[in-house]
Amino acid sequence: MRSRYSAYATQNADYILQTYAQQPRKQQTLEEISDWAKQCQWLGLQIHQSQMPDANGFAYVEFTATYIQDKQIFAMRENSRFIQEQGLWRYLDGDISSHQLIKTPKRNQACVCGSGKKFKQCCLNKL
Ligand SMILES: [Zn+2]
Repeated sequence: MRSRYSAYATQNADYILQTYAQQPRKQQTLEEISDWAKQCQWLGLQIHQSQMPDANGFAYVEFTATYIQDKQIFAMRENSRFIQEQGLWRYLDGDISSHQLIKTPKRNQACVCGSGKKFKQCCLNKL
């Protein structure tokens, strides 16, 4: 999960595509992944919980990713499902429980990325 997030942040579309499970990978193109990664500036990833594989072999990670798009801040919360293929955990699909525009904090308020710093000392300069 973290490595996929890092790949989005560094626009490593190859890696993102490779870490899709076989089934959903068929519906993805490098170009689409790359376009999406380029449009966004990723601010932070907070992992809420992760679950060990269940009886069907699925593992789950619930996270919130925060990003800037068109000078606005968004947060997306998703519960992702992973499956192991050839010894590697790959992204199968996810349920997005919220995806919303976030009010830009004031300079002295806590940053939206989850760093615990003040906004002015953290992601303000990325806007
Ligand atoms: Zn921040």
